[in-house]
Amino acid sequence: MSAEVSVVGSGPNGLAAAVLLARAGRSVEVHEAAVVIGGGTRTAPLFDDDVRHDICATGHPMAAASPFFRWFGLAAHGVELLRPEIAYAHPLDGGRAGLAYEDLDRTCDALGADGPRWRRLLGPLAERSQDLTELLLGDLRHPPHDPRVAALLPARMAMLASGLDRRLFTGAEAPALLSGVSAHVMGRQPSPAAAGATLLLAHLAHATGWPIARGGSQTITEALAADLRAHGGRIHTGSRVTDLRQLAKSRTVILDIAPRGFLDIARDLLPPRYRKALESYRYGPGAAKVDFLVSEPVPWSVPEVGKAGTVHLGGTRDAVYAAENAIVRGEDPDDRFVLVSDPMALDPSRGLPGKRPVWAYCHVPNGDPRDVTDVVRRQIERFAPGFSDTILASRCLRATELEAYNANYPGGDVATGAVNLRQVLGRPVPRWNTHRTPLGGVFLCSAATAPGPGVHGMGGWYAAKAVLGKDFRRVLG
Ligand SMILES: Cc1cc2nc3c(=O)[nH]c(=O)nc-3n(C[C@H](O)[C@H](O)[C@H](O)COP(=O)(O)OP(=O)(O)OC[C@H]3O[C@@H](n4cnc5c(N)ncnc54)[C@H](O)[C@@H]3O)c2cc1C
Repeated sequence: MSAEVSVVGSGPNGLAAAVLLARAGRSVEVHEAAVVIGGGTRTAPLFDDDVRHDICATGHPMAAASPFFRWFGLAAHGVELLRPEIAYAHPLDGGRAGLAYEDLDRTCDALGADGPRWRRLLGPLAERSQDLTELLLGDLRHPPHDPRVAALLPARMAMLASGLDRRLFTGAEAPALLSGVSAHVMGRQPSPAAAGATLLLAHLAHATGWPIARGGSQTITEALAADLRAHGGRIHTGSRVTDLRQLAKSRTVILDIAPRGFLDIARDLLPPRYRKALESYRYGPGAAKVDFLVSEPVPWSVPEVGKAGTVHLGGTRDAVYAAENAIVRGEDPDDRFVLVSDPMALDPSRGLPGKRPVWAYCHVPNGDPRDVTDVVRRQIERFAPGFSDTILASRCLRATELEAYNANYPGGDVATGAVNLRQVLGRPVPRWNTHRTPLGGVFLCSAATAPGPGVHGMGGWYAAKAVLGKDFRRVLG
């Protein structure tokens, strides 16, 4: 018998929607194309059965802060989020490094003369983190609970978006720290959309932190799947939906897929205007990721960097932005922004002594088929001399292979669509409720909908809310 609700895709957004609807008493079925559930939230051994690698997401500032996961209760479902003492670090040449401690006071002390400016920028946001996160992970349709929270944003956003942060600070560390956070948004730098994401992520470092999940991100997926099954839901893996009509017997269909995927399965069903709008949705640069099996912790020149959950490489703020802008222009800069994660710095369960998973990615032009292992290795070596000697094995997941791994990453765009002002304000198509589609009973919930990329489940939350209407409050209890 067909379920009342069919969810296509088992990423965090798809599973969030499925959990909410199953808890509302609907019969729910999830169709996942891959043989393993989780989308961007999967963990697997790659080189050695005892060493588990996060294939995509590792850092969970958004999961820790998101209203969906707060309601779901990750800890109550057995997921342990481990909070690093240093949320993120940004080494610079010459043996210096910017260090964003979770403790704001410590961060400010380490920044010296720039400390008070860092506090003025992020302190008030960290104090009102819950309200601010609800606003920034919102669906843009509801005013903030407290207008004073929204008032904290315009001046700060204007400063970051216009590049004035360069003048605000005297040292190199603070601007470099902000540029590394901003570069999580793959695209033109600086920009209004990147400024919003920077304020969200940078303030979370001093609020709910940038944790990782003990045992790997897959534990988040498994917790959601267990809850779904406990409420009667079913999950079919290896079940790619190729035509929306396959799900015609379900009253409600929730799509955790990219606009390109939606066009593939429903092109001739969509009204021309909406179809055209989906066709004009833009994808951003790609990512290419390298997984390493290494024998030792990364030998950072500044040892304190090894305590960070996430490390940003690329040198000064200007160098990071120059590299990111070159990628947007389709160039191939020598110097790249590289993001590194060494989860065993916090979570010994990921490997064994002498066998550790480390991953790093850099940005590349969309659809770039090249192997970036050397580019990434050289950038790590620049700030951690001797790293190359610790490598036991490696593999590159090129931008094109990322798309093959997960159709939601067209051309390797792991944000499922460019994060620019236009596509933040109406993602993927400008309309009052972007989670609804013109097809009755068909909803979108992927990272191509508000509030955009990241493991927060909020796309699923808003899609479920659109399905349930007034009943949504009852589910929240
Ligand atoms: C290398 C990398 C590192 C990242 N790091 C982080 C990080 O540290 N922190 C963070 O918050 N975010 C990170 N992200 C981003 C994050 O993983 C995504 O934004 C998030 O997973 C999006 O969730 P989603 O539910 O929208 O879609 P996804 O997680 O992408 O899941 C979509 C699912 O739908 C399935 N699917 C697609 N089409 C079909 C179809 N036709 N039929 C059936 N199934 C289908 C796919 O197979 C996939 O499993 C990273 C991403 C990558 C690739």
